[in-house]
Amino acid sequence: MKIDHIETFVLKAPLGDQRFYWSQSCATERASLLIRIGTDTGLVGWGEAGVSMPVEHAAAFIHDVAAPRVLGKNALETEPLWHDLYSYSRDFGRKSTPIDALSGIDIALWDIRGKEAGRPVHALMGGAFRDTVRSYATGLYYRGNDVRDVAGAIAQVRDEARGYVERGFTAIKGKVGLLPIRDDIKRMAAVRDEVGADFLLMSDANHAYNFHSAVRMGQALEELDFHWFEEPLVPEDVEGCAALRKKLSIPIATGECEYTRYGMLELLKAGAADILQPDISACGGLSEGQKILALATAYHTPVCLHAWGSGVALAAALQLTAIIPSIPHTAFPVAPENEPMFEYDRNPNPLRDDLLSEPFTLEGESVRIPQGPGLGIEINQKVLAQFTVAGRTSGRGTK
Ligand code: CA
Repeated sequence: MKIDHIETFVLKAPLGDQRFYWSQSCATERASLLIRIGTDTGLVGWGEAGVSMPVEHAAAFIHDVAAPRVLGKNALETEPLWHDLYSYSRDFGRKSTPIDALSGIDIALWDIRGKEAGRPVHALMGGAFRDTVRSYATGLYYRGNDVRDVAGAIAQVRDEARGYVERGFTAIKGKVGLLPIRDDIKRMAAVRDEVGADFLLMSDANHAYNFHSAVRMGQALEELDFHWFEEPLVPEDVEGCAALRKKLSIPIATGECEYTRYGMLELLKAGAADILQPDISACGGLSEGQKILALATAYHTPVCLHAWGSGVALAAALQLTAIIPSIPHTAFPVAPENEPMFEYDRNPNPLRDDLLSEPFTLEGESVRIPQGPGLGIEINQKVLAQFTVAGRTSGRGTK
């Protein structure tokens, strides 16, 4: 089955007055880079490349660098194709845009493999540990016209947290790192007060802190009985993260800004992560996700995937989540929160909610893992056309 053509779609959904902030930036739009790979049999596969970046860079890499190497190759041979693209781009790649692009291509090829076999990706990867997964709500960002209005921010996170509880979530993650520490502590304390002691709360700084600030915030989160403290330090500060992990009792979660098995190995070797959070659309795709899982099990480190994108990225994350083992295994979970959870972004994003013909369904806080062939999703072509701002095709006619 030969790869006949590769199409990319840059999707953008402006947020208008629904824009929101975190410690590093403000989202004024949601953007995704979708990839459709076509084969000489007519089978097509969908992928998504990259997160939290200007997606056009990955599109350029796909057409200018990757396409000439993969057009005409066997679409079912994901491993040699991955190895060829990674090796070819090693001298100028290894992280960031080239691996984002490679991730999207790999996901689309796995979609094709699954459709060719008539089975979901997780079945081809050895079989599922679960057909539903507990999700947690990612929200509690900074919103409104004046994000420095502390009283307003506290009222806002209380309202928002109450909304998640009413919708059936028992696990919620909120942002810190934009306001002064004392004010962010007040925000997180308000959330704990609002939801009560039984809820699982996590907090994410998006690497906003230096070491001593991270210690201070981490200790406050410990007192509030938070379940994990995410990306306290910049991703380059692996040693700092390892030292922080020794200093605090709250688990440290990290890995969304890291790439491939090699990057994850550095985090694991250094003892920098209690919970590893690769993103399948960025870390190297589903092929690399499997290898990272193997590494994580060797280091006895639980994995909760980072997920932030359109329905395609979430479908890829769900397929891999199906094959994450419990680390460690017990007959009945001693601590249910140590089972893999699924990050369910609750910020406005029509590319997540409207792009799939059949959107993901929540039963309480459980998300059903798609069971159809490949990623188990169909794209709503009308919605795709509505949000596509740039498209490009390489190939066609290798039959
Ligand atoms: Ca995060």
